[in-house]
Amino acid sequence: MTGKSEALLAAQRFWNLLGRPDEFRDAAPGWEPAMRNLMDDAGFDLSGVREFLKWCLKVNDFSAKYLREARDPMACLRKNQGSLLKRFNAYEASKPAAVVPLNPAAMEPWDGHTKHQIAVVWGYCFYYAGTCKGTDDLWYREHVHDEAFFKKKFPEMLAKVPPKWRAPKKHVPDPACLKCGGTGRTLDVEHDYHGRKGFDLQRHVGCPCGKDVLMTREELLQ
Ligand SMILES: [Zn+2]
Repeated sequence: MTGKSEALLAAQRFWNLLGRPDEFRDAAPGWEPAMRNLMDDAGFDLSGVREFLKWCLKVNDFSAKYLREARDPMACLRKNQGSLLKRFNAYEASKPAAVVPLNPAAMEPWDGHTKHQIAVVWGYCFYYAGTCKGTDDLWYREHVHDEAFFKKKFPEMLAKVPPKWRAPKKHVPDPACLKCGGTGRTLDVEHDYHGRKGFDLQRHVGCPCGKDVLMTREELLQ
């Protein structure tokens, strides 16, 4: 049984997706019971019904048109629910699986390759690729999107990295550092006793907190 508030939220979403028509502004909260029935019939939770409504009004031009032209959009949606669901399910089933972003930094070394080699290949062939100072070869970046393919192409990519190549890095201070407050600069006091009676010399120095990270393409291109 769908909760009251979820059905109401879905009804409001439906009105939004219809283009927030003024003539249904007051009617939309009254769509809640019908929306609850729709959700129960289809087995939708709130995120599921949101996807369905989005498909009905943003993806499927045909239903978008007749729902927007309907004298009672909620009744129209209920009436066509069966055929819409059938097509929506087919659409969902044919969608490619979500792509897990490739993250070589998290990969365990394989076939005798080292973590260092993985980082160098990643830096050169993906991160640094296409920058003015780096390689122009964008092929790997554009085509290697999963671990299996990355591993297959790895020896080839490794051979492309120039000897002694190092990816440019920048230092990023720790945002939680208490000493510099995340600025990376701290005001230290130095004592200078050169001839004088001794005075304190204050100067900004780099804070040792934080870590080095690879620079982004945009930073490299600046
Ligand atoms: Zn610090």
